[in-house]
Amino acid sequence: MRIETRAIHAGRRIDPATGAVTPPIHLSTTFERSSTGEYPLGYSYSRESNPNRKTLELCLADLEGGKEALCFASGLAVSTAIVQGLEPGDHILAPDDVYWGLRKVIGDVFAKAQIATDYIDMSRPDVVRAALRPQTRLIWVETPSNPLMKITDLAAIAGIARDAGPNVMTVCDGTFATPVLQQPLECGIDMVAHSTTKYISGHSDVVGGVLITRHDNYLFERARKAQRYGGGVPSPFDCWLTHRGIDTLPYRVRAHSENAMRVACWLSAHPQVEKVHYPGLRGHAGHEIAARQMSAFGGMLSFQVRGDRARAMDVAARCELFIRATSLGGAHSLIEHRASVEGPDTKTPQNLLRCSIGLEHADDLIADLEAALADW
Ligand SMILES: *Cc1c(COP(=O)(O)O)cnc(C)c1O
Repeated sequence: MRIETRAIHAGRRIDPATGAVTPPIHLSTTFERSSTGEYPLGYSYSRESNPNRKTLELCLADLEGGKEALCFASGLAVSTAIVQGLEPGDHILAPDDVYWGLRKVIGDVFAKAQIATDYIDMSRPDVVRAALRPQTRLIWVETPSNPLMKITDLAAIAGIARDAGPNVMTVCDGTFATPVLQQPLECGIDMVAHSTTKYISGHSDVVGGVLITRHDNYLFERARKAQRYGGGVPSPFDCWLTHRGIDTLPYRVRAHSENAMRVACWLSAHPQVEKVHYPGLRGHAGHEIAARQMSAFGGMLSFQVRGDRARAMDVAARCELFIRATSLGGAHSLIEHRASVEGPDTKTPQNLLRCSIGLEHADDLIADLEAALADW
């Protein structure tokens, strides 16, 4: 069945106890054993497994075309579980513009783990191949990336990892694309990670993460242990909210993409805009790959204003519809000056603003940006 149908039905069933169409939230932390000591329904204790988490995991595994999924309390809990599964002496390849939180996980949380990491230009397969070491165990990919919306050729990276041997695992952070726009596992990537906080839950009201695997592998098994015994699990209510958001995911993501395309086109013709970063634009370096591996280009874009940091801050300050806030993937449009969030060693241009294009009417979003960019 198509993704619209699976988003609504995968993992779901009518509640056998009550006939409820909308699933109940199972707050019980503990589940009854039979007189012979088994757990006949498969649940024993809510950290290990919970009905709301289980149905969400079934749904997300289905949407990605994966074998199995593990839900975590946040997107970064997924990254933590993966890095925790590596061993001293192991080597990671990660994008030089990777979501900043992964750098924190590797550099701070696992500072003493003796894991080496090279941050490289993942959009260039030749660079990736040259950076491989005998100790490389993980290639972390993020596409589209943040905030320049760089595109990585997933099939090319999967091929490089395959050539390098069975010990090299690939993980794609697909948060910006969602399973609706891009299917990394079909491209040969081993596992997909999402911050479900963003488009998947879709309403800026719940933090969560998921790891989905194409096949059984040791890193996924270690992530399972990190989930169950490390204990970074989402609450039943968080799972319920996330699952509710998924009902409308395919329609939302397509509307986000259409709006973003309109805003990107409009911005690229504006005299006060120096550059627009959106993979849907023909001039974008990753456009051709994106057109091949994505079904639409997503709701995230960034643009550089003509001028400096103060000018960019001023444009953000003059927006009235766009909300000045971090994060993405909700119904409301957000605008953010990334460099000031990322701190003094950021490579993000100071005149850059990142937008999460929401579900308002595109004409209203354009009118807001027009007013914010005018009269300079
Ligand atoms: C937000 C985000 C994360 C981290 O997820 P949290 O749910 O905030 O922990 C990871 N990767 C990307 C691309 C993100 O946007």
